[in-house]
Amino acid sequence: MCVFCRIVKGELEAYKVYETDDLIVIMDKYPVSKGHLLVITKQHYESVSDAPPGIVGEAFKVAAGLARFYKLEARAPGVNIVSNDGAAAGQEIFHFHIHVIPRWTYSRRIFAGRSTLTEELAEETYTLLRGVKEYLDNYLRGDGISPSYK
Ligand SMILES: [Zn+2]
Repeated sequence: MCVFCRIVKGELEAYKVYETDDLIVIMDKYPVSKGHLLVITKQHYESVSDAPPGIVGEAFKVAAGLARFYKLEARAPGVNIVSNDGAAAGQEIFHFHIHVIPRWTYSRRIFAGRSTLTEELAEETYTLLRGVKEYLDNYLRGDGISPSYK
């Protein structure tokens, strides 16, 4: 079983941020910035091109909601949303996931400078994400989100 399937089943620990019937959001173990998250399907699909369109849509909706939270609530000046598909594209874990990477400083290189998630950084990330569950619940229902981002 792959590492993400083991996290979904609770056999491996991860810092969980959000969950739906089909998805979990966890902190990346090797973050490139504070707040680097992964949106992961509960079902095993090898990559974005292997997953059914409905679940791909759900996963990207959650990723977009997280990006919106980071920009509007946490005041990140930028966010990368990316899914690596295939080893040639830099995919390392062959279970569909989407990276959500808030950018606090300018960077054109998405995966440069990865660190290791410490307990301290995880706590800081939870502080940064305070209120995100309610925010995403509202976002996914499509209500109560205003004003629109400019
Ligand atoms: Zn898996």
